[in-house]
Amino acid sequence: MVDIEGLGSTGLFSRKSKVHELTKDVHMLQYWSNICIFETDGGVLIYDIGFEFYGPQILEELRKITDKPVRYIIYGHGHADHAFGAQAIINEAAERAYPRPIIIAHRNLPLRFDRYRHMLAYHAHINSIQFEIPDNLPGFVQNYIYPDLTYDYSMQLQLGSRTFLLNHNMGETDDTTWMWAPETKIAAVSDLWVWSCPNVGNPFKVQRYEIEWAQGLEAIAGREPDFLLPGHGPPITGRKEIINACTTVARALRFLHDQVVHMLNQGKWQEEILHTFEWPDEFQKSPYLQSIYGHPYFIVKAILRRYHGWYDGNPSHLFPTRSTDIAKEIVGLLGDPKKLLDRARVLKEGGEQQLALHLVDLVVESGSGDQYEEALKLKIDLLNALAECEPSLIARNIFKTGARRVGKK
Ligand SMILES: [Zn+2]
Repeated sequence: MVDIEGLGSTGLFSRKSKVHELTKDVHMLQYWSNICIFETDGGVLIYDIGFEFYGPQILEELRKITDKPVRYIIYGHGHADHAFGAQAIINEAAERAYPRPIIIAHRNLPLRFDRYRHMLAYHAHINSIQFEIPDNLPGFVQNYIYPDLTYDYSMQLQLGSRTFLLNHNMGETDDTTWMWAPETKIAAVSDLWVWSCPNVGNPFKVQRYEIEWAQGLEAIAGREPDFLLPGHGPPITGRKEIINACTTVARALRFLHDQVVHMLNQGKWQEEILHTFEWPDEFQKSPYLQSIYGHPYFIVKAILRRYHGWYDGNPSHLFPTRSTDIAKEIVGLLGDPKKLLDRARVLKEGGEQQLALHLVDLVVESGSGDQYEEALKLKIDLLNALAECEPSLIARNIFKTGARRVGKK
């Protein structure tokens, strides 16, 4: 058993928790991802259950709060950090002769589990980059506990004297459930709220849903909650702030969506759209939209992918030659690849790391010559320099992992 405490640059494996007491019978455990515990006179409901390795600690914290049986576990969505920690609670229920908790999720969630199980190696590979997971750790979960019950559009639960409304909403995933607890005016929303620019257009993952995400946030704001329990980060309290937070992010998503649609209607191609879309100061400076995880550029990519094929408008790129063959031609014509590296160093000094990378890549991809090793070193420096000033965790980890793997397949 590897000790995973503190490993990885993302805090992903940290077991440090903070317990938030929202009301006397509603608590939120804040780890890397959050777990929401609702105590009622009919037992306990848990919304989102974290990583598999959180299980024993969730149980320990739960039992400091109440001895009541857990009757329901709701998966907010089917990602590894939200739907995998139930085993410890199921085992405890058997030991105490409590009824087995009933696990509920949206009907798309089991399909997601099926897909993950068919593509374990692939997901381990991409997550090792996205989260900069050390090589000696498993990159993806293995133990799948499927829901006992699924629903389609919405579902109402009664537990003791408390009501819970489950609402399906596409957003970061197609299987998200946000939950409304009317008596306490609490919205538990999983990754519909993550204290970051929404993670639409993740470079590794399947399509995500910006307009539906905006609609979900507007529906949550429409309930006028007193507490909003997010998938990650601290809760938001106070009706005014919650409405402002939700509607600001919804407006930003709609703003990007409408811009891309407008530019597509003007006949613009992907490159021009990606280099000219606007991200106004209001959004750039908003504490709700910092690009610490998702990124507006990624969102635009996702909107393009949603409405547009992969053709970029240049027929030269329809059946392109391998980049290594193009690089060999260019470097061969130049005669001296050192010219490219010298120019790349000048660009680097001027803060143009990205442009410099394109020049260095020509030498790296031409794959030979006495400048090859130099080019690899310069590429590592450039990627590390980009990582250092990159706020988005996903982009930063791609640069950092890329730097570590330069020259390796
Ligand atoms: Zn999450």
